Amino acid sequence: MDIVPHETPKGNILIVDDAPDNLHLLSTTLTEHGYEVRGVINGAMALRVARSAPPDLILLDIKMPDLSGYEVCRQLKEYPATQEIPVIFLSALDEVLDKVRAFSSGGVDYITKPFQVAEVLARVETHLNLQTAKAEIRHLNADLEQRVQQRTEEIRQKNQALQASEARFRLIAENMSDLVCLQSVDGRYLYLSPSCQSVLGFQPDELLNTSIYDLIHPEDLQHGRLTISADLQPGAPPLVYRVRRKSNDYIWLETIAQAVRDSEGRTIQFVTTSRDVTARVLAEERLTYTALHDALTALPNRVLFMERVELAVRRLKRHEGYAFAVLFIDLDRFKLVNDSLGHAIGDALLVAIARLLESLVRDVDTVARLGGDEFTLLLDEIDDFTDALKVAQRILECLQTPLQVEGHTVFTTASIGIVFSSAEYQHGSELLRDADLAMYRAKGAGRSRYEIFDKAMHAEVLHLLKLENDLRQGLQKQEFLLYYQPIVELTSGQLRGFEALVRWNQPDRGLVSPNQFIPVAEDSGLIVPLGAWILQEACQQMRAWQASLSCAADLFMSVNLASQQIREPGFLNYLDQVLAQTHLAPHSLKLEITESTLLEGTDQIMMTLTHIRDRHIQLSIDDFGTGYSSLSYLHRFPINTLKVDRSFINQIQNSADRLGIVKAIVMLAQTLDMDVVAEGIETLEQFNYLRLLQCELGQGYFFAPPLEAAAATHLLQSLRPFNLN
Ligand code: C2E
Ligand code: MG
Ligand code: MG
Repeated sequence: MDIVPHETPKGNILIVDDAPDNLHLLSTTLTEHGYEVRGVINGAMALRVARSAPPDLILLDIKMPDLSGYEVCRQLKEYPATQEIPVIFLSALDEVLDKVRAFSSGGVDYITKPFQVAEVLARVETHLNLQTAKAEIRHLNADLEQRVQQRTEEIRQKNQALQASEARFRLIAENMSDLVCLQSVDGRYLYLSPSCQSVLGFQPDELLNTSIYDLIHPEDLQHGRLTISADLQPGAPPLVYRVRRKSNDYIWLETIAQAVRDSEGRTIQFVTTSRDVTARVLAEERLTYTALHDALTALPNRVLFMERVELAVRRLKRHEGYAFAVLFIDLDRFKLVNDSLGHAIGDALLVAIARLLESLVRDVDTVARLGGDEFTLLLDEIDDFTDALKVAQRILECLQTPLQVEGHTVFTTASIGIVFSSAEYQHGSELLRDADLAMYRAKGAGRSRYEIFDKAMHAEVLHLLKLENDLRQGLQKQEFLLYYQPIVELTSGQLRGFEALVRWNQPDRGLVSPNQFIPVAEDSGLIVPLGAWILQEACQQMRAWQASLSCAADLFMSVNLASQQIREPGFLNYLDQVLAQTHLAPHSLKLEITESTLLEGTDQIMMTLTHIRDRHIQLSIDDFGTGYSSLSYLHRFPINTLKVDRSFINQIQNSADRLGIVKAIVMLAQTLDMDVVAEGIETLEQFNYLRLLQCELGQGYFFAPPLEAAAATHLLQSLRPFNLN
């Protein structure tokens, strides 16, 4: 069986003709050619059929009894559902006018009767194709139209958003005091907000197209402080830098930059918001400055100095051949200047010293004030360690010349400790510690000199630490004992008293001199318990002698007292307690204090000394003359006795100066109603000089060395005046 393919009709055609023959012929022909055909015989029917089921094409006769073809066509064209249907007129009329009317009423073509079938087919086909093409075009157009509309809408919305944001941007830019700019990637200004005038002093126009980099402070450019770069990320920290204003001064700006990127993410511009933060930056700088500098001298303080030394230590580890030195400078007897000339002059002297030190070093070096009268130098990048010695030498030389300070001529000297850089140092503090140690060594060696820190000093520190440890144990194990040195009346040779002098019988070291351990005891605070024991022991001994020997009744016991003991809050109570326990009369006790204790001059010490005198305990100034004390202050203290230092006595026969000094001291004491003890009389010659000067009392090997208690007791028992010849 043949399969006849079902052909879809080529088109749906409505034939309108009142002549049945024509209608029939055309219907058959077109049906045969694959068209679906409907036929009607008058205009009214044509309109009804076309409206109810619009055909693809209409073949329309002109001359019909009810409505003319023109009228039908006109009505078809008025009605939306039918107006697009192509109408081909069929007519016997072949007048030009008829064709014109046919076309003007909306027809697309005109076929003259009697018609050729082929012509009808050809025209029908053509117009149907045309219609299809038109439909396609219409469809495409509609599509295009829709897309155009969509795009237009998008653009409209975008524009609206853009306009809104631009309006916002301008609103903000033009109304805020911050400077808002649009910059090209290479830093050119593309827009500047009006605040440009108030922030930079320029009108926005003046800077348009100029580069920001022309305004930035060269230092800030160099230090890479300003890195507006194309890869700037959102949320990057603000940049702080200096820019030049029109008036040529610089202000500090804080800028937040935001990259403007194109659709591919490339930075094409920057929006920057800048604020004048000069006041804040200057305040911060001032704060940092005060935190790192000494207010009086404006020199770097300890913190800054240590920071620099720390840096130097780290640098030493990286760079071979790099060397530096730290100098620790302490003014000698600065306190005296303060006390005698007043704090204002003291301060002025410190400032003068600061300037002097600065003038003696290079720019790369650091001069710092650690506090009080302590200065430090960091001599950086020295070629040779002798450079450091030269600087120290220069400082000492310069101080030989007195300084003029606020109308006063002030002499001052300094003790300097020097330490050189070495790979062994891990921290700056170690260098400072050793420089300090060397400085103390310089002081100990007689002041106004420098000492270089060396290994031996380090060893000595270790030694002192050990000594301190042993001392602590010695106290627990009661390894201490007292010796007693007679104090004699020079005119008569009568014994007047003893000075108690402590000894340490240390198992490993033997008998240790107080010159070795007393300073350690003082530094470590051990002098307080040790001193308490000495006081107790000495009082007890004197009371025992007085109780057992009549010749001892009027003797006094001199006990050395360290300043720490006096500063102890419970000292007076303890003193009372000792006297009460031992039953020693207060006037039989004499306390020896040093000039430096007096020079501390605190109200507390003053008060304690007054309370001591109120109890009728005697007070004596030990080592008088070595403490650089001005004689003028003496009357302010309740002192009974001056003990002239041994160093004056042992040179008395050789030096007119020394003799003069001792003479002056004796006279001063007489004037102030004090008595004088000459310490360390070793020879008859010295003794004679002192007698000549009418010095009242004396003590020394010439009479007797410090004696053990038993020996002293023996001396008392066999008492007779000392043989003075
Ligand atoms: P100082 O208080 O000035 O004691 C006098 C020192 O001179 C004693 O030395 C004594 O032995 C010594 N000396 C006495 N006569 C002569 C002499 O003719 N020639 C020489 N070259 N020296 C003489 P010492 O006992 O070694 O004491 C030294 C220092 O140690 C004392 O000086 C004192 O500052 C301190 N010291 C001694 N005992 C004590 C104490 O119990 N407590 C306190 N805080 N310090 C003490
Ligand atoms: Mg003494
Ligand atoms: Mg003395």
